[in-house]
Amino acid sequence: MSCWEPRIENMRPDELKALQYRHLKTLVNRLYSFSDFYHGKMRAANVHPDDIRSLEDIRKLPFMSKKDLRDGYPDKTFAVPKKEVVRYHASSGTTGKPTIVGYTQKDIDSWATSLARSLTSIGLGSDDVIQVSNTYGLFTGGIGFHYAAEKIGAAVIPASTGNTERQIELIQDLGVTAMAATPSYMLHLGEVAEKMGVSIRNDTKLRVGLLGGEPWSERMRDRIEEWLGVKGFNCYGTSELSGPMFSECSERDGIHIWGDYAYVEILDPESLEPVAPGEKGEMVLTMLQKEALPIVRFRIGDISSIDPEPCPCGRTHPRIKRIFGRVDDMLIVRGINVFPSQVQHTLMSIPELGEHFQIVVERKGALDTMLVRVELKREAFTDNIVQLMALREKISYRLKNSLNVGATVELVEPGTLPRFEGKTKFVVDKRDI
Ligand SMILES: [Zn+2]
Repeated sequence: MSCWEPRIENMRPDELKALQYRHLKTLVNRLYSFSDFYHGKMRAANVHPDDIRSLEDIRKLPFMSKKDLRDGYPDKTFAVPKKEVVRYHASSGTTGKPTIVGYTQKDIDSWATSLARSLTSIGLGSDDVIQVSNTYGLFTGGIGFHYAAEKIGAAVIPASTGNTERQIELIQDLGVTAMAATPSYMLHLGEVAEKMGVSIRNDTKLRVGLLGGEPWSERMRDRIEEWLGVKGFNCYGTSELSGPMFSECSERDGIHIWGDYAYVEILDPESLEPVAPGEKGEMVLTMLQKEALPIVRFRIGDISSIDPEPCPCGRTHPRIKRIFGRVDDMLIVRGINVFPSQVQHTLMSIPELGEHFQIVVERKGALDTMLVRVELKREAFTDNIVQLMALREKISYRLKNSLNVGATVELVEPGTLPRFEGKTKFVVDKRDI
């Protein structure tokens, strides 16, 4: 398997750590001297650059969050003079103002190089024709894949979103082999193709999906592969980090986070102490080489874990597992962190159940109780009590196994749980905390 930058990608772990430390030291010195914003944060946390004497000392540095970027709108958090900024992107803020991300030329180059390594690790190269069906513009998706695909010498089709019939024609006529898109757009493309009488699997050369930008499940990945013959690769990045920067390699078992660009910490969301290796927690990222908009110990809000095993592909950089959910969604039940996505995953593995469920948490006396209400599929609906009780028991058992906390299960008729804009409101927390 070829590497884009073998010397870096296959670096010994101790060498990588030494390199990360050197980058961290440079970053902290630079921010302390040139960033009013981060200098202020360090002063408030009583940390001086001299206090950073090892990579682990990163834990002394203050956190950053989206709020810092919102409060600093448009560019108060930038750490370079305006004339060094060569590009702006903006993320769509769900509340209030968007956040503005600035780039120096080096930031643009690092972004393209990072994703070029990832595309190469999937097996893409100069023989490939890559259609970029992410939005181009202020959003970082389109341009991110575009630059990286050009860098590896592939032919790029900047299709952006929409006009799906046209996209399918291009896929056929130009021999597209890989496509960057959201997983749901990939499925939509399959449906439109079918209506046009085109089989993506049989009538096109499309074999690789560079997918991300929204939560998606392994089940969706299987569906895309079985139905369309397209292998989906999980891609990761947000505008704060630069844009899409990382992806799974050909092993499709975790996303390589290039350690010379990003340092990953996985912390307990409550105590903010590191979790044990391999455990799930809140992902906190430091971009070690970013210039215009520094990102230090950024609480990105995603839950993941680092795979402690080395990757069979030979690359030594850490791999994060699929994103399990958002910190904001996390529930603490009897001291145990519970993610609605875990509950959903368990319920989806049981064929009799539909996709709508609800978690109700209450406090009875000093004890938290969790009730999981789930809709049966229409064909599984029955008035056979014995059968229903057995099913309930099976669900309770599986939930207890995956969550480490017991839940009461209530089976309800299909279509009876409340819908909110097409989705079930997953969690009702009745505790008075
Ligand atoms: Zn790998």
